Amino acid sequence: MSKDIINQLGENREEYFNAAIPPIFSNSNFLFSKVEDMRSAMINKNNIPFYTRGHNPTTRIFEKKIAALEKTENAIALSSGMAAISSAILSQIKSGEHMISINQPYTGTDMFMKNILPDYNIDISFINGEKKENFENKIKKNTKLIYLESPNSWTYDMQDLEKISKIAKSNNIITIIDNSYASPINCNPSLWGIDIIIHSATKYIGGHANAMGGVICSTNKIINQIYNSQFKLIGSVLSPFHSWLFINGLRTLKIRMKYVSESTPKVVSFLEKESKIKKVLYPHSKDFSQKNLVKKYLKKPCGQFTLVLNTKDDKEIERFCDNLSHFRMAASWGGHESLIFPEIARYNKESEYYSKTELLPKNYIRFYIGLEETDLIIDDIKNSLSKI
Ligand SMILES: *Cc1c(COP(=O)(O)O)cnc(C)c1O
Repeated sequence: MSKDIINQLGENREEYFNAAIPPIFSNSNFLFSKVEDMRSAMINKNNIPFYTRGHNPTTRIFEKKIAALEKTENAIALSSGMAAISSAILSQIKSGEHMISINQPYTGTDMFMKNILPDYNIDISFINGEKKENFENKIKKNTKLIYLESPNSWTYDMQDLEKISKIAKSNNIITIIDNSYASPINCNPSLWGIDIIIHSATKYIGGHANAMGGVICSTNKIINQIYNSQFKLIGSVLSPFHSWLFINGLRTLKIRMKYVSESTPKVVSFLEKESKIKKVLYPHSKDFSQKNLVKKYLKKPCGQFTLVLNTKDDKEIERFCDNLSHFRMAASWGGHESLIFPEIARYNKESEYYSKTELLPKNYIRFYIGLEETDLIIDDIKNSLSKI
C-alpha cells in the first residue's frame, strides 16, 4: 500500500521513539568515530547525514513530502523562495549563454534577472508567454533555459506548459517554473514535462506566515547536480526549525486550498459588480482571457487576484487602502490572514530599488484572501469602497 504523503511519507517514527511529530534536528554536526563512516557520509551514502548544510533529517522529511506532492523524483529545500529561484537559474546557465523568460515574473525574480545575471554575461530575452511562437522565435543556438511562472505575479498571464515543454525538449532547453501561485495542490507542472518546479514555501506551503523557505523539485539527476553545487556552495540552507514548521503547514495544505477555492471566487464576483472597480484580474473571473489554459492547468481557484480601482487619483487609491480595517498591507501572502499589496507603495522617489522593473499602474492592488469568513472580507471591502 502506498503511504499517505501528508501524514506518513518520509516519517520513520521508529527512529525517534514513535513520536507523532518529527523532532527538530537543530544541529550542525553529525558525529563519527570511524574514518570510513565519515567518508561515506560525506558523499551522502546510505542517506547518513554529515552536516546540515547538505543533509538534515528534519528537512529531509519535508523534501520527500514536497517531491511526492509535486510528482517529481526529488526535491531540495532552501532558505527562501528567492534562494530556490536564484540557485536553480544559476545551475542551468553559464556566462555566454542565453535564456528566455516570460515578462513580469515575480518582482524579485525580475530584479535578479535584470540586476544580477547581466553582470555574469548572461543574455536574457523577455517575452509575452501567451503564444508558443513567441518562445520559438527567440530560441538561439546558445539558449539553455526557459523560465516560466503560470499564472505570473499580479496579472496572472498563463503559459501553455505542455506546448512549451515540447519545444524546449526538442531544442535541449531546460524549463523552470515558479509554481507558488497554484501550490502543488492545484497544478503539477512535471506532468506536462516541465523540468524544474519551484515554490516559495513562505506562501501556501507554510501557510501561517511564520517561516521563510523555498523548494526546488526535479529529477534525481538535476537535484543531485544542484545539491552538489549551488545548494551546498552558495549555502542558502533552510533552518531545521523552519522545515519543521513547513511539515506542520503541509498537514493542512489541502484543506486550506479547498477553503480558499470556495471563498475567493465569492469575493471576486462581489467585486465585479462594483462600479468603483474597473476590473479584477483573476484566472477564475468571468472575463479572464485564457480560460482554456485555466481549465487545463489549474485544478481549483486560488486565493490571489489583482483589483484595478476605477480611479487615477493617488489620494483616493491610498484612502481606499488605508480605510480597509481587516485587510492589512504586507509584502507577502499565503498565510492565514487576508492581505493587500498596493502597487502605489512601490512608487517611491527616494529609492532606485525598483528602477529596472516595470511598475504596474498605481491603481493596481494585489489581494490575497486568507482563511477568514467570506462575509467579513466582503464587508470590509464594501465599507472602504463607500469612502471613495
Ligand atoms: C514570494 C514569492 C517568491 C519569493 O519567495 P520568498 O520566499 O519571499 O523569497 C517567488 N515567487 C512568487 C510567485 C512569490 O509570490
